[in-house]
Amino acid sequence: MNVADSYHVASSLEQLGYEATKRAEDADVIVLNTCVVRQSAEDKAYGRLNSLKPLKKKRPGMVINVMGCLIGVRGNEGFKERFPYVDVLSPPSNPEPLLRYLLEREGKKVEQSQTEQRFARMDEELILPLNEQGSLVSSFIPIVLGCSHACSYCVIPYRRGVEKSRSPEVILAEAQSLARQGVKEITLLGQIVDRYGKDSPDYPTLANLLRSIHEIEGIERLRFLTSHPNYFSDDLLDAIAELPKVMPHIEVPAQAGDDEVLANMRRGYTEKQYRDLVRHIRDKVSGVSIATDIIVGFPGETQEQFEHTYELLEDLKMDVAHLARYSPRPQTLSSRSMVDDVPDEEKWRRFRALEDLQEGIAAEIHSKYLGEQTEILFEAKQKGRWRGRTPTNKLVFVESDQNLLGKILPVEIVWTGPWSMQGKLV
Ligand code: SAH
Repeated sequence: MNVADSYHVASSLEQLGYEATKRAEDADVIVLNTCVVRQSAEDKAYGRLNSLKPLKKKRPGMVINVMGCLIGVRGNEGFKERFPYVDVLSPPSNPEPLLRYLLEREGKKVEQSQTEQRFARMDEELILPLNEQGSLVSSFIPIVLGCSHACSYCVIPYRRGVEKSRSPEVILAEAQSLARQGVKEITLLGQIVDRYGKDSPDYPTLANLLRSIHEIEGIERLRFLTSHPNYFSDDLLDAIAELPKVMPHIEVPAQAGDDEVLANMRRGYTEKQYRDLVRHIRDKVSGVSIATDIIVGFPGETQEQFEHTYELLEDLKMDVAHLARYSPRPQTLSSRSMVDDVPDEEKWRRFRALEDLQEGIAAEIHSKYLGEQTEILFEAKQKGRWRGRTPTNKLVFVESDQNLLGKILPVEIVWTGPWSMQGKLV
């Protein structure tokens, strides 16, 4: 979501005549787009922010904009006083405060309505993401902003605000614009992407939105993330099975495999319901890959409860497990009413146990690709090799002197490991 927001800012700045620099020292404008989903992300944001201070001292004319969840939709009280060298603060998904500041600095008096007309707010208007010489193969479209679910550990609703689906017209126009710029793959984004349209009676479901975007010529692959188990409908599964451009890869987090922990997390489903959903998805979409997220060390999580999560991953053999150690976040229910009582070493121990387990599972799943042919969309050249993805979102590296950027080509897999594969063009 932050990558998408950053593209939005970059393209808005391009419309004002700015261009990208390679080094921060050369920049007239620096946008620090921040994430605070865990303490580690917040620490990193503050680290980068502190590192900008000497730059600003050397070049006082430089504009520093801090954007995103460190600021939040309701603002961050006292932030300006703590960081006087920051010129502009922006909430997530909204480049408008920066654009207004830059225009006013140039001496252009701007009315509120004027900037709003010129520089689309993401919830209303078209974003034209930056696409240097058609080099962007894969791009994102946020379709649901904010989140109203309020999982007890999660800060996102407090920083990104209430759930709001963007209109299908705007989403389609954006997808068409990306297609015209040569983008081949679009990933639709939302904190709970399968809730798309539920806040607005006139909007289509995610499945029907996928059906419309599927018609757009030039777009070859469609993905969406992140799903919540409670909203994953058969209609959506039918769309995945029936639409060839919708890739067989689903991100649907479990977060835990123990019912009491799940209830304390306010996730709204049981471990059995999650298992049933995964089985159902696999029945309906053959060859599907499924990714999950897990938090270890949630307040009160006992060794036995952790083992239930371990068993869940062991049994379900997910393609990917994004693992996190619980960290209390301001304003959240868990930080206000539960004690962060699993010691850090224990969180690490549980984290490593799952990491080891998942490494073995992923290696085994990937080994089945060995000798197989699969279609790869090539998205970049990285350290001399072409990097691409299978329909199931597996990372594949291929050596070739040809320009493979943006091409979808059959590849034979010649080596597999837990995190990536190597292949050769067929
Ligand atoms: N809305 C999406 C993504 C949320 S953030 C979803 O619900 O899946 C991405 C991941 O960060 C979450 O899935 C969760 O596993 C993790 N996360 C969120 N809050 C956390 C916290 N306080 N401590 C540790 N991990 C957290």
